[in-house]
Amino acid sequence: MTHDEALSAPTRDLFREDAYLRECRATVAAVLPDGGIVLDRTVFYPLGGGQAGDAGVLVRADGREVPIADTRKGKDAEGRPTAAIVHVPAPGAEPPAVGEEVTARIDWERRHRLMRFHTTTHLLCHLVAQPVNGCSVTPDAARLDFHMDGPLDAAALNAGIARLVAEAHPVAIGAITDAELDAQPDLVKSMSVQPPRGSGQVRTVRVGTDGQPQIDLQPCGGTHVANTAEIGGVVVTKIEKKGAMARRVVLGFAA
Ligand SMILES: [Zn+2]
Repeated sequence: MTHDEALSAPTRDLFREDAYLRECRATVAAVLPDGGIVLDRTVFYPLGGGQAGDAGVLVRADGREVPIADTRKGKDAEGRPTAAIVHVPAPGAEPPAVGEEVTARIDWERRHRLMRFHTTTHLLCHLVAQPVNGCSVTPDAARLDFHMDGPLDAAALNAGIARLVAEAHPVAIGAITDAELDAQPDLVKSMSVQPPRGSGQVRTVRVGTDGQPQIDLQPCGGTHVANTAEIGGVVVTKIEKKGAMARRVVLGFAA
C-alpha cells in the first residue's frame, strides 16, 4: 500500500457509535514517513470540531506499548482531510509493523474529561442562544466563542449548567438527512464549522428526552457523555470580551 492509499483508506471510527469504548483490537494498515500509524479501526478520536485528539497506547502482541501522543485526520496530497485516522506516536517511540495486530487503548481518564467538557459546550449553546464562532476542548479547559455583543453573567451560566447537570438529561446520538438539515438551518449553531455533508446523512447530538421541550440538538461529530449528570462539576471560570461581537466563555473543572 502506498502512502496515499494508506491515507485514503477509511479507518473504522468505533468511537462515533460508542464513545465509551476504551480499547479495541486493530491491524496496522500503514506507518507513514513521519511515523504516524494508521489502523484499520480505532477508538482514538482525531482532532476535529474543536475537540483535541486522543492520547493513549498501542499494545503489541508481546506486551510492549507504543505511546500515542495525539490523533489526527489523515491528509491527502492537497492537504484535505481524509477518512484515515493517524495515531501520532510520542517522540522516539518504535512503531509497530504494517500488518501487525495491536490493542488500541485510549487514555480514558483524559478522554472522559474531554467528553464532560464537550457536552457542557452543548449546554452553553442552550443557555446562550447566540451563534457560535469558535470552540476548543482540551483535557484541562474548554472555551466557546459566541458571536454577540451583550453581557454574559458567569454566575447565571453556572447556575444554568448546575441545574441541567442535576436534572440528568439523556444525551443521544442520531442522524438527519442533508435535506432535513437544509430545511432546518437553525440547527447549525456554529458559524465556523459546517457539518460534513455528502454521505446523505449528518450525525446529530440531542440533549434532552425526545418529544420533551428541546434542550439542544445540533450536528456534531465529537464524543459526549451519555447523560448530563456525568458532567459533574464543570464551571465557567472566565468570560472574556474578544472583540465588539465576540464573547468567550471559558470552562474548567470545579475545585
Ligand atoms: Zn458535540
